Amino acid sequence: MSTAENRPAEKMMFQLNLRRRGISDQAVLRAMDQVDREAFVEPRDRGNAFRDTALGIACGQTISQPFVVAYMTDQLRLKAGHRVLEIGTGSGYQAAILAKLCKQVVSVERFRTLADSARQRLARLGCDNVEVVLGDGFAIPPAMGQFDRIIVTAAMEQIPEALTARLQPDGILIAPVGPHHRVQTLVRVVRTAAGFERKELVDVRFVPALPGIAREL
Ligand code: SAH
Repeated sequence: MSTAENRPAEKMMFQLNLRRRGISDQAVLRAMDQVDREAFVEPRDRGNAFRDTALGIACGQTISQPFVVAYMTDQLRLKAGHRVLEIGTGSGYQAAILAKLCKQVVSVERFRTLADSARQRLARLGCDNVEVVLGDGFAIPPAMGQFDRIIVTAAMEQIPEALTARLQPDGILIAPVGPHHRVQTLVRVVRTAAGFERKELVDVRFVPALPGIAREL
């Protein structure tokens, strides 16, 4: 079977595409190179793992497009000491990329099946600074504390104040905002001394963020 190791041309194209589309941060590019996307896709999609498209995973969800993963990671301006909250673990791919660039990732997923398989996969890959939690990103328990960065990887109709309130001073949140099942806008919110600064970045398409833990597995 073809594996990442014997597909150097595909891996090279993968990196070139990220650079061509404007990702220039060396640490982000290195993380994208180190984390093998093939380990996060469904077996039927192994041959497509290095294509720049979203792919289907269990529970009707998706693993995001690599460019969007790199772009959102870049916009977070991560530092080695940061504690990061991800809402929408999905396959765990984005969490694995974040984990290379910060101290701790707490990733919340509403489907038990996805949370369990991402937790196992990340453990197998040695990502021991990621904690996957079954939960609802619209109701992050106060005990989880504050975060330097928050990344939402499912589309929200608006950004809940309860979420921006969880940012540390100078904290950054990135989220796709807009109607479900349509084009959304990636929004960046920075917590400043004066309040919150909001900037619209690029158009994206994400699966919807839904409230509550999923009743189906
Ligand atoms: N970051 C993922 C892709 C996420 S797809 C990856 O790298 O593979 C979006 C995920 O968000 C789905 O798995 C979906 O179940 C989850 N999700 C949607 N609403 C949520 C909520 N309120 N809380 C937690 N997870 C949620």
